Amino acid sequence: MSESQQLRGILFDMDGVLYNADELISGAVEAIAWVRAQGIPHLFVTNTTSRSRAALAEKLIAFGIPAQDEEILTPPVAAAHWLRTRHAENIALFVRPSARSEFAGLQCVADDAERGASFVILGDLGDLWDYRTLNRAFRLLHHNPDAELIALGMTRYWMAADGISLDVAPFVAALEHATGRKALVFGKPATHFFQAAIQKLGLPASEVVMIGDDIETDIGGARTAGLKTALVRTGKFRPADLQHATQPDLVLASIADLPNSWSR
Ligand SMILES: [Mg+2]
Repeated sequence: MSESQQLRGILFDMDGVLYNADELISGAVEAIAWVRAQGIPHLFVTNTTSRSRAALAEKLIAFGIPAQDEEILTPPVAAAHWLRTRHAENIALFVRPSARSEFAGLQCVADDAERGASFVILGDLGDLWDYRTLNRAFRLLHHNPDAELIALGMTRYWMAADGISLDVAPFVAALEHATGRKALVFGKPATHFFQAAIQKLGLPASEVVMIGDDIETDIGGARTAGLKTALVRTGKFRPADLQHATQPDLVLASIADLPNSWSR
């Protein structure tokens, strides 16, 4: 990495960089061990909201990568941190039970409230969505013109076990359309999300490199937020990504090349 003398921190995307679904990417364990041995501040950043941080940490540990909850940044964690720093109250949560614990300690409205929310948090509710639930989110926003709509990611769809399925974005879009309001998005590629990550590291954006396999959400998002970027040729990487309007500062064959690139 030619600018390594200015680089002091690393953000790692998880799926496609450290592993592909349930298969470890060769060299990932050694690369993370090297980062830890060097004492380089780092975080794992993922848009996954269907698993808790504890479950994600367990997954890393099962692969042989020691990890703690605090080292993983997910959209619910970033949003909860943002709410806490604002001493936010009257929060309405539309998130899965697994994500609820991240909002512990914040003052929330009743689960059936239709008024009185200052912040409406929308996550991937999956088949917990129904008209009544979506309409309740709409009513909470409608009854308070100052209420902020917060989206935990803007993923449009995902591949569930039983087939292609709606993610969070279509529901956010429905509420944006109905209320004429724009959601504040936590999750890659939103700048807020990367800012939350570098704040956690305590480093300026220009001294942190985002390593990811997604040219748009990882590389494009991080660049917009002022970070340095490294694209790995693993996971969802396709050669056409190198013709994309957004280009990374560096391309790595895989995460295994990180130690060599860093010291070059
Ligand atoms: Mg990825």
